[in-house]
Amino acid sequence: MIEVKGLTKRYGANIALDHISFSVEQGTIVGFLGPNGAGKSTTMNIITGYLSASSGSVSVGGHNILEEPSEVKKLIGYLPEIPPLYTDMTVKEYLNFMYDLKKVTLPREKHLKEICDLVRINEVYGRLIGNLSKGYRQRVGIAQALLGNPPVLILDEPTVGLDPKQIIEIRNLIKNLGRNHTIILSSHILPEVQAVCERVLVINKGRIVADGTPDSLSHNLSSDHRLIVRI
Ligand code: ATP
Repeated sequence: MIEVKGLTKRYGANIALDHISFSVEQGTIVGFLGPNGAGKSTTMNIITGYLSASSGSVSVGGHNILEEPSEVKKLIGYLPEIPPLYTDMTVKEYLNFMYDLKKVTLPREKHLKEICDLVRINEVYGRLIGNLSKGYRQRVGIAQALLGNPPVLILDEPTVGLDPKQIIEIRNLIKNLGRNHTIILSSHILPEVQAVCERVLVINKGRIVADGTPDSLSHNLSSDHRLIVRI
């Protein structure tokens, strides 16, 4: 579903991504695990088309991001590290605004109701986003990613800043979404990717340093790489 080949991103002399390659099969939940500055957000921003690569290629669903950027964008729902929420809008106003912005063509009321049921935000639908808990805000962020029913979800540190109960709820929501979506999520925390993902890519200093199942990683990570993720 996703093919990344030789992806490199330079900021002046700083190499944020150093020739990384990986593919993600349809229907899997893949974790991107690494410390601050490893290159997780850079990779996600390039796959979603918000950032251009210095070199290398990305294709999603057979569409190359450079040749068919709008086709790729249609296939991906993105939750950035800082979700694009407008705190002075109600959840209803915001999701309707994003529905229009993304030019979704599915029946509006039915589609919004299905998303709200799925991410469980019905009880806050009429409330101001600025008054919501972080857990609910993150659910609203995931709701906007689901607009238009994209088959791929890219979630950048979806549980960061949440309390333990909210973390478990968001992890369960992601596992549930994984039944019908291909998902890449990034995290600093090994137990998080163990709880949610079928496969984990460990990234450090712009390079993929390990790739395997969560269980194999917890046994086989080298001591150097163990130190870079919170165990
Ligand atoms: P975090 O967990 O802190 O979000 P990350 O793994 O997502 O980290 P990136 O944000 O992708 O890491 O950053 C990768 C590298 O690229 C870092 O060295 C970072 O300082 C650098 N970088 C990112 N954005 C820019 C930018 N706009 N200009 C210069 N350097 C940047």
